[in-house]
Amino acid sequence: MSRSRVTVVLSQAPGKHPAKRALEESVVAALLLEPELEVSVVPNLYDLGPDHTGRLFLGSVTGDMVVISWLYPRAAFWLLDRDGIKGQFGETQLKPPADDEEEEAEAEVDTPLDRPEAIGPAGTIPDRHIYCLDLRDFNKHEPYVAEVKRIAGECRARREAQAREKAANNPAVLQLGVSLTKPEVPTSQQAFTPESLLAAPGRRWYPVIDYSRCTNCLECLDFCLFGVYGVDPLERILVENQDQCKKGCPACSRVCPQQAIIFPEYKSAPIAGADTGAVGGLKIDLSKLFGGDIGDALSTAVQERDRELVNDGRDAVGMSVGIPKRQADKPKGPKDDLDKLVDDLDNLGL
Ligand code: SF4
Ligand code: SF4
Repeated sequence: MSRSRVTVVLSQAPGKHPAKRALEESVVAALLLEPELEVSVVPNLYDLGPDHTGRLFLGSVTGDMVVISWLYPRAAFWLLDRDGIKGQFGETQLKPPADDEEEEAEAEVDTPLDRPEAIGPAGTIPDRHIYCLDLRDFNKHEPYVAEVKRIAGECRARREAQAREKAANNPAVLQLGVSLTKPEVPTSQQAFTPESLLAAPGRRWYPVIDYSRCTNCLECLDFCLFGVYGVDPLERILVENQDQCKKGCPACSRVCPQQAIIFPEYKSAPIAGADTGAVGGLKIDLSKLFGGDIGDALSTAVQERDRELVNDGRDAVGMSVGIPKRQADKPKGPKDDLDKLVDDLDNLGL
């Protein structure tokens, strides 16, 4: 029985930061020694346009995949989903080291966020897993290599269990001597050369929707006045015109009631896709350290949108356009914990 290999794709940091390049190279060098892995390198995932070879390569991978990037796992996973590279979310056990104080704070708020039902990803999700690891978690290659090897073992065990189940349901398959695992590396994947994958793309800026949170309220569609959002034939929200978004502006992420809009390269962790449930631990620290209410997310979003309108030669609209009543009333009421957390971290530039 042939053993299928897990594809590992390392997404480089934009620019040429020497320490980041050194870590990337050491991770790749160590992974290349593992016979069970198929390792490739692409430029920064977020910057890949639809025709970039790196994107086409990612789209050609049909089996389990590990993506190692400088993005939060949630951001990387939904970014891939937006590009049609879909799979089940693979849970990583790689966690950044937390100091004692953070661990204590997280323990105090270890309650899951109460979220309404989300619409989930569009279309059929293939029976494979995509694991995303964040290169900012550790500054040495060993933890990444250990986690990728663990993931490869997990994928192998899952495939073998599926193969056994399939054989049990169809004994004729085994009698014919047919291998039940996937082929070693699909030929479509072999067609890409390392050089073609690494063609430098231009920088991009656009929102990514986390459909495990999005409830399809369409508030982002109403709020954005630049034609970025649209709906699909099933009336589901989507980022239709990615490159019409205004560089550096995260306005609509502040308006989304589910914190489902990610700007993967924004300076504030929750907007960039940090798992706010876990980051919730930080809130207690921040409140203790800085205290008080630091601004209002909606008015910040309106100011950011007005600035972009004026930059485009249009009139500022303030709160008069695209603010649902529920949101417009919000500043007068008490903020919930997550709103405050997003504001606090954003203002701190964490
Ligand atoms: S505002 Fe948020 S929850 Fe509502 S449709 Fe947009 S992304 Fe989804
Ligand atoms: S950041 Fe601004 S331009 Fe970009 S999608 Fe959101 S509201 Fe539209």
